This record gives sequence, C-alpha cells and structure tokens, in this order.
Amino acid sequence: MAFNNQYLEELMEKVIARNPGEPEFHQAVREVLESLEPVIDAHPEYVTSGVLAELVEPERIIKFRVPWVDDSGKVQVNRGFRVQFNSAIGPYKGGLRFHPSVYEGIIKFLGFEQIFKNSLTGLPIGGGKGGSDFDPKGKSDAEVMRFCQSFMTELYRHIGADVDVPAGDIGVGGREIGYLFGQYKRITKEYTGVLTGKGLSYGGSLARREATGYGLCYFVREMLADAGLSFDGARVVISGSGNVAIYACEKATSFGARVVAMSDSNGYIYDKNGIDLDTIKRLKEVERKRIREYVTVHPEAEYHEGCAGIYTIPCDIALPCATQNEINAEAAAALIANGCRAVGEGANMPSTPEAVHAFQKAGVLFAPAKAANAGGVATSALEMSQNSMRYAWTFEEVDQKLHDIMVGIYRNASAAAEKYGMKGNLVAGANIAGFLKVADAMLAYGVV
Ligand code: NDP
Repeated sequence: MAFNNQYLEELMEKVIARNPGEPEFHQAVREVLESLEPVIDAHPEYVTSGVLAELVEPERIIKFRVPWVDDSGKVQVNRGFRVQFNSAIGPYKGGLRFHPSVYEGIIKFLGFEQIFKNSLTGLPIGGGKGGSDFDPKGKSDAEVMRFCQSFMTELYRHIGADVDVPAGDIGVGGREIGYLFGQYKRITKEYTGVLTGKGLSYGGSLARREATGYGLCYFVREMLADAGLSFDGARVVISGSGNVAIYACEKATSFGARVVAMSDSNGYIYDKNGIDLDTIKRLKEVERKRIREYVTVHPEAEYHEGCAGIYTIPCDIALPCATQNEINAEAAAALIANGCRAVGEGANMPSTPEAVHAFQKAGVLFAPAKAANAGGVATSALEMSQNSMRYAWTFEEVDQKLHDIMVGIYRNASAAAEKYGMKGNLVAGANIAGFLKVADAMLAYGVV
C-alpha cells in the first residue's frame, strides 16, 4: 500500500534504502507508519521535530562474536546482537532469541515492535531486542551453558538494571536465563534485576512463565466480549508448543474452549477431543521432544508433517504462537472459509500484511501482537519492580495485575482507533496508542 502522505512515503523509502535486505524490519516499520497517517495529519509537530525520523533509527546496535567449545572439543563461532532501539520512556527492555534464522533484520524488527508494545503496557520500559544465530536444539546442557557464558561475557558491559534488561524469547527459556544470569553475576559481582524470566529461587516472578499466554487470552476475551462472543465452547487452534502456546492453551481451556491443534517446527497434531496439555508440557518442557510423540500417548489424535497445514483445521479462534509470517494469504483464506471468528497473535508478527488485510476485510476480529502479547513484557516489568523492592508478590497478585494491564491495553487501543476514525481496527489503535506516549517523551527531550 502506498502512503497518501508524502513525508511518510519518503521516510519509508529511506528506511528500505538504509536497511537493505531486511524485509521483516521494513514490514514492521511500514505497518506502524501506515497507522500513523491520521495522527501526523492532525499533529505535524511529530514530523517537523524529527521525532518520526529518529524513531525508525535504533539508538544503538551491538554486534559481536560468540566463540564457544562444543562437546567434541571443536571451536564454534556464532554471532550475537543487541539492538537498543529506544529509551525515551525507560531502560531498553526486550527478549533474546536464539534461533538459526536470527540476523540483524530480525532483531531490528522485534526491537522496533517492542517500543510500542512496551509503551502500551503503561509501564516505564523502552524498546530493545537481542539474540544469536545459535541453535539450542540438539545441544547438550553443557554446550548451551558454554554458549550462554560466552554470549554474556560480551553482553554484560552493555546492559544493567537501569540501562537494558533482556529476557527470553524463542530458544531462550529458564535454562538459558539461568546460565546468562549466573555469568553476569560472576563477572560484575552484582545481584541486580538485570534479566527477567529468572528462576523463582533467584529473583524470578511468579506468573512470568504463564504471562504471555495468559495475557493473550485476557486480551482476546475482552475483544470477543465486545462482539458478544466468548471462549466458552469455542474450538481453538494454537500454533507452536513453546512458552506462549502452552500457557495460551492452559488459559483458553480454563475459559471453556477446546484446543484441538498445536504444532512445532516439524508438524502439527490434531486432537478432536481437545489437547491433553499435561502430555504437551511433559514432551516440551521436560523431555524436549518433538510434538509428533503426542500420538504415541494419544493414538486417537493425528500427526501431520509440516506446520502450515494447521490453519486448514476448522476453528472459531486461531492463536498463532510460533513465529513471524506463519499465516500468509493462503492460510488466512482457509481460516476465513472455515468460519474462524477471531485471531489473537501470541507470536510477534505471525500474520503477513496480506493476511491481516484479509481478516479485516472479512470482519474477523483481529488482536495484533504488539497489544495482545504484551503480557510477557508487562510481567517482566513487574519482575523488575519486585527485584527493586527486594520483595515478591503472590501468583494471584501478579496475575491480577497482568489481567488489569491487558484489559487496559485493549481499552486503550480500541479508544485510539475510534478517536482517529478507525473503529474496531486494533492494529491501528495499538500502533497509535503506543506511539503517542513515546513520541511525546521524545518531543520533550528535543533533538537527542
Ligand atoms: P519457544 O522457543 O518457547 O517456542 C517457540 C515455538 O514455536 C516452538 O514450538 C517452536 O517449534 C515453534 N517455532 C519456532 N520457529 C518456528 C518456525 N520457523 N516455524 C514453525 N514453528 C516454529 O518461544 P516462545 O513461545 O517464547 O515464543 C513464541 C513467539 O512468541 C515468538 O514470536 C516470540 O517472539 C513471541 N513472544 C514471546 C514472549 C515470551 O514471553 N516468551 C513474549 C512476547 C512474544 P520448535 O520447538 O520445533 O522449534
């Protein structure tokens, strides 16, 4: 889609020219700039002050070598990244992704999205993201430990509890955060809340593990309720079987839904009776096995190789919780044709622009990632608060705060969409509401 606004058109062209070969980053910037057209028509000061031009440029990019020794004694070399995108409203905050597909463009796209997501939570956190092209899959615990220690040996000098606070993402769970935090503490002698997603015995927050999946369901429940719908009795398809997917499944089920399908990067399972989450948790959280093993325990379920087919399963609600661009135009068309009423994005940018457009055109309720999956980072910010206070809230206290934050994000995004003439368009509403707070802080600082 072309812009009506000449300035935005030129800014987009500049982003593409200055960041060649980074399509995910271009896609994320374009979506935000498109949403902002009516805002900058009403407030040209965001252009004349240079705020928009500054916003699309990371404050800092750190890129480094990560050498480590594998179990056979051979030296392996990976690449590490930390993109400190925007600190206008707080210390940089955002996860670390360890996956072979990681390169600078992926980290920039995620860091850019994180600015608006973090702003939407209402908490004082800026936007950042990091990671490595290291693949933890198939590595021994000792190899993962040596990699994490090497990664932190460089990263530690760039982060801090009031500077930049990383967390987990794809491929970075409790095990990796433990190794990273241990190395940070060892190098700096400091016991501070420099990472979130920590274990409960060393400063982690109750409900952080559950937060992104639960938060997604709290958000989607509000969106459904406004349309007179609910999770109760709904058939739900969830892609992925990692941290976000598992706890989205748990909460949706507790709301009365029947989750009939989940996946991993090899394939998907369909269980018409409803997924047995205990089996998934054991396979994925404890044994680190492939999802195909599910059918050995539940022979009545089906396993299909390849993950794209999951969206051909008829459902009322789809919760993509695996990775970016997993729902393309074809998958969206299949969901719509099968009567899907709502899509809630647990993963970051799982729907292509063509898919989002198709959902909106067909009247499918659409909860965009940067609003709907903000529960993880919101609870990370609550973990930071508890670390600063040297105190720990109960599970119920954290969960209640998470719930209230997600309801607040939904209301805020809805109101912003309506105010700028796009009622019901939560993509635009989330981008606008997230942008305004950051942009006003940047305006206050002048050119910095
Ligand atoms: P995990 O590593 O715990 O799980 C990722 C899941 O997605 C796994 O089932 C994985 O399968 C699958 N997957 C990964 N890459 C692909 C791929 N290319 N194609 C198909 N499936 C894939 O990650 P999380 O659950 O933490 O993250 C999932 C998504 O949610 C990401 O987009 C992340 O950025 C986003 N997110 C996560 C938050 C969090 O708190 N964890 C917060 C906000 C967003 P396999 O095991 O086979 O690799």
